[in-house]
Amino acid sequence: MLEEAATGVAGALVLEPALPGGDHHHHLVCDDCGKVEPFEDPTLEAAIERVADGRGYAVAAHDVVLRGACQDCRPASILAE
Ligand SMILES: [Zn+2]
Ligand SMILES: [Zn+2]
Repeated sequence: MLEEAATGVAGALVLEPALPGGDHHHHLVCDDCGKVEPFEDPTLEAAIERVADGRGYAVAAHDVVLRGACQDCRPASILAE
C-alpha cells in the first residue's frame, strides 16, 4: 500500500506546517467569515510537550487549530461578558 497521507487534504483549509525551531505558530479560524489568524502561545507549547513527555512520545510536529467565530462575527452579547 502506498503512502497517501502526505497528499491527503483534510478539508479546504491549507495548514502551514508547525515546525520546531522555525516560524512556529498556530491558527484561529473563523467559521463565519473564513478569517485565519495566526497565534503563538509558549504556555500551549509547554503543555503539548508535557502531554507528549508524559506518554513517552517523541513528537516531531503538531497542529493546533481553534475554530469558531472571530471577534467581528461572534454575538455582541457574548463579547460583553
Ligand atoms: Zn469572522
Ligand atoms: Zn505549537
